[in-house]
Amino acid sequence: MGTISADFTDETVVITGGSSGIGRAVALGFGDAGATVVNADRRAEPKDVDAETPTHEAIEERGGTAAFVETDVSEPSQIASVIEAAREFGGVDVMVNNAGVHRDLEFLDVTPADFDAVHGVNLRGTFFGTQLAAKDMIDRGVEGAIVNTSSTTAERPEWNHSHYAATKGGIQMLTRSAALELDDHGIRVNAVAPGPIATEIREGWADEARDAIEESDGLPSRTGIPGDLRDAYLYLASEGASYVTGETVWVDGGGSL
Ligand code: NAD
Repeated sequence: MGTISADFTDETVVITGGSSGIGRAVALGFGDAGATVVNADRRAEPKDVDAETPTHEAIEERGGTAAFVETDVSEPSQIASVIEAAREFGGVDVMVNNAGVHRDLEFLDVTPADFDAVHGVNLRGTFFGTQLAAKDMIDRGVEGAIVNTSSTTAERPEWNHSHYAATKGGIQMLTRSAALELDDHGIRVNAVAPGPIATEIREGWADEARDAIEESDGLPSRTGIPGDLRDAYLYLASEGASYVTGETVWVDGGGSL
């Protein structure tokens, strides 16, 4: 099978939650494709045990340009600060709203505090990440792209995911609604819905997921690794996707079949 290449030279990508897991793989992908990458995360250090170098340093070691801005995406003023910081590099051309959290809880056990914590990062963070990036693009006359991280749980219920799935269903509809209203400004809004991916989104899940990969017979429904997601984000952010907006691309190894 062939490969595709992407060129984001002279473009600035802001990615939230780029220190670990999927966000790190996507940030490295944009860095390799020539973009200046601004990672907005609560922590610079990756959670992944095998990844010791913070993402922005890893991008620079590979010859790219990157920065880290400590950010809590549940607080819109902090997202605004990152977007402001991106102006130092010419301003945001691509916004990737990827930061997310999960709490493994049965529906009957979810408290209002659990609900607010998960919604604050996943849905509120993505909503205002999309809105504030779009306002900045409009102010600068930039026809940019926004890519959000949804999940297959947006449409497929799973045990212990009710509060999380509700945020992802919200992200899917936010993506479509924002795409509709931002179309006049030439801004495209899309999402990627990963299936189960081996990351430390909850402690111990990466090992569990890696075991599942070893035991699986392949497609359909093998567990994924963060690198499986990278090209979907690059594609949706690229000129090649100029006729694609309001879409959620499922990348789940066929698990939803
Ligand atoms: P991860 O825990 O490895 O990465 C999430 C990153 O988000 C971390 O670096 C974390 O520090 C950061 N983060 C958390 N709260 C934040 C906040 N308030 N402000 C800024 N940054 C914050 O997990 P991951 O699996 O790579 O998750 C990335 C995205 O993918 C999430 O939106 C998640 O819901 C989604 N997703 C993951 C899976 C999976 O199976 N791993 C499946 C579907 C969707």
